[in-house]
Amino acid sequence: MRIVIMGPPASGKGSQKPFLTEELNIPQISTGEMFRNEIKKGTSLGKKIEKGMSEGKLVTDELTNEIVKERLKEEDVSKGFILDGYPRTLPQAFYLDQLLKEKQLKLDYVFNLTADEDLLIKRIIGRRTCPQCGRIYNIYFLKPKVANKCDYCGATLVKRKDDTKEVIIERLKAYHEKTEPIINYYQEKAILVNIDGSKAPYDSFLEIKSAIEKSK
Ligand code: AMP
Repeated sequence: MRIVIMGPPASGKGSQKPFLTEELNIPQISTGEMFRNEIKKGTSLGKKIEKGMSEGKLVTDELTNEIVKERLKEEDVSKGFILDGYPRTLPQAFYLDQLLKEKQLKLDYVFNLTADEDLLIKRIIGRRTCPQCGRIYNIYFLKPKVANKCDYCGATLVKRKDDTKEVIIERLKAYHEKTEPIINYYQEKAILVNIDGSKAPYDSFLEIKSAIEKSK
């Protein structure tokens, strides 16, 4: 099964990872996470994208398409994948279609997570991430059992550099200008399913699960 999970920043794309990967047994691939790893490792790609990302700007289509193309060559995607945060522009959506067409594959679903902007901003400001297992918490809505520690692996939680009020304005702007047009594109292909991203992550997951089961 090949899935895209899209939505504005903090709509809950990354929070679906533990549920979806366990349910479907396929990897969830986040371009944002891949880019953050490149920056952490100090690679030449990391150096190119660091400034723009910290300002909430999108990485160029060329660099993004390339990293996805390479990732989709790996063994673990043979049974399918969940793309999280990619595509984020129409040229990326066209590129992905072409890439899949060459392999005689296509997307099964595009899940579009929706939530009000006020909620997104509050989620972003309160978001904390586990640097080890990637689980996502929130100091307002989804507190860890022990303050600032991951419930699953005990690592100290971190705040993303781009999770500030100033940067979120830029990220939302990029979303409205560049990403929103993709919604129509996938709607016309009849593979788009809107999911309420304002719910708790598990409840949004149940909506996704029921959409998959309904169309079986
Ligand atoms: P995310 O973790 O999905 O919120 O992404 C964090 C940041 O990574 C974004 O604000 C962009 O700077 C960059 N990024 C992630 N995915 C993409 C993409 N598909 N196209 C361009 N930039 C991206």
